[in-house]
Amino acid sequence: SEMNREVGKAVARKSGKVADPKHPDLLAILDIAHDCVEIQIRSIFIYGRYRKFERGIPQTHWFCRACQGSGCEKCNFTGKQYKDSVEELIGRPIITLFSAENAILHGSGREDIDARMVGTGRPFVMEVVAPRIRTRDLAVVQQEVNRAADGRVEVILERWSFHKEVEIIKSTKGYKKYRILVEIDGGCSLDELQSAIQSLKGAKVNQRTPIRVAHRRADRVRERRVLDISKVGEDDERVILEITGEAGLYIKELISGDQGRTEPSLSGLLGRSARVCSLDVVEVQGYDEGE
Ligand SMILES: [Zn+2]
Repeated sequence: SEMNREVGKAVARKSGKVADPKHPDLLAILDIAHDCVEIQIRSIFIYGRYRKFERGIPQTHWFCRACQGSGCEKCNFTGKQYKDSVEELIGRPIITLFSAENAILHGSGREDIDARMVGTGRPFVMEVVAPRIRTRDLAVVQQEVNRAADGRVEVILERWSFHKEVEIIKSTKGYKKYRILVEIDGGCSLDELQSAIQSLKGAKVNQRTPIRVAHRRADRVRERRVLDISKVGEDDERVILEITGEAGLYIKELISGDQGRTEPSLSGLLGRSARVCSLDVVEVQGYDEGE
């Protein structure tokens, strides 16, 4: 309208800035009825990869189950279920550096809380909400995040990102590679183990929604492929396996069989109980790396 153009010209004169109606950094909404101006600052986005070296850290913040975030005795009045998250460890220094209101982590999938994320790291887009500072040297930001995270989490901030990339990264279905420590009840011979591994290599696995996530996911059977599996070492009575799976393959259940809900499984093939003692994600395929 005429009003918008006139105000725009006045702002441009005073600030020395040029208006970009298609991609504004900042939006001022004139509310004439209430005689006020609402300022909306557009988020900025950073693309990177993170590694998580400590178990027990969730990817994003979790509100306390007892109080839903308002603060209670159970959570020491923090409102949080876990003290830290990958999101907060990366986000806190970013909020300070950009003088922002919040920092939201959008990951390409997520590892379990008790899993480490190592190797090449997990792709993510960090959304910096309402930043008052819009430009920073990403190398400096990266350095500051890594210093503050103190070895618990580490990032590589590759480049600036954009809003649409959030959806792209969240819908990416790349393969995942894991290294796991497995305990087999009563142990087994190398021949038995190698034959079980051979049967799982390339196998299509039917997985009914695992018992451990059944409370929050629909109960259904999905088919996912084991792209590769091999024994890479031993530790006492336990074996170390590397598994590459299609996105969505549940690794803990591939080993345990989940009481018959995952078929085939290492436990089922060996005819005895087996479980994952610890799990590291070593590779997450990014969307720009082809299929
Ligand atoms: Zn609480």
